[in-house]
Amino acid sequence: MNLAICKPLSSILALEKLGVNHEILAEIDTPWRRKNMAFVVTENCIKCKYTDCVAVCPVDAFHEGPNFLAIDPEVCIDCDLCTPECPVDAIYQEDALPENMQHYRELNIELAKLWPVITEVIPAPADADEWGGVTGKEQYLIIE
Ligand code: SF4
Ligand code: SF4
Repeated sequence: MNLAICKPLSSILALEKLGVNHEILAEIDTPWRRKNMAFVVTENCIKCKYTDCVAVCPVDAFHEGPNFLAIDPEVCIDCDLCTPECPVDAIYQEDALPENMQHYRELNIELAKLWPVITEVIPAPADADEWGGVTGKEQYLIIE
């Protein structure tokens, strides 16, 4: 099967159902995927990091930092499975980012390069519930 000709998302999802593994799916047709949208993690994830989103991502697009997660747009297949899973509504499709969150597109790109992939749900920080919905959290983002 020539994977490179399978451009539509529906074809990628069909390949998944056929058992083509995620590493191969992440490699195919990257230019096509970047012509489409990726999803972006924004401020409300900072200090929350519940990781419910990680459990549903079919291509392991999430990367974990000390108190925030980032999505690698080169891997994200725009499936929208993660958005409803986030209990603090931190994930947006990139063309639906609020005006004051536009810079998170670039931040996700850079942090995904810096941090390791996370593939399993981990316990949220003990004080996560206290930080959900708090604004102005960007000052607490730890980049290392
Ligand atoms: S579910 Fe939401 S808050 Fe939790 S890690 Fe994912 S994006 Fe961050
Ligand atoms: S939209 Fe979310 S679940 Fe789907 S591939 Fe992208 S990061 Fe993963």
